[in-house]
Amino acid sequence: MEKIFNLGDLVVMKKPHACGENMWKIVRVGVDVKIKCVNCGREVMIDRLEFARKLKKVLGEENEEKKS
Ligand SMILES: [Zn+2]
Repeated sequence: MEKIFNLGDLVVMKKPHACGENMWKIVRVGVDVKIKCVNCGREVMIDRLEFARKLKKVLGEENEEKKS
């Protein structure tokens, strides 16, 4: 099952970052996906397929209001 993700989305990965944070923001989408740790600001570049595999959940856009 392919997960849909877009630039600017907040995502949760299966494995947390070294700093303990598990939420990342997608800052670049191309052949590789660049994500930024929302806690420490560290940016990591991952192969798109690998990213899709490690992705746990897409939370959606940061500024988007939660629809109830
Ligand atoms: Zn971090």
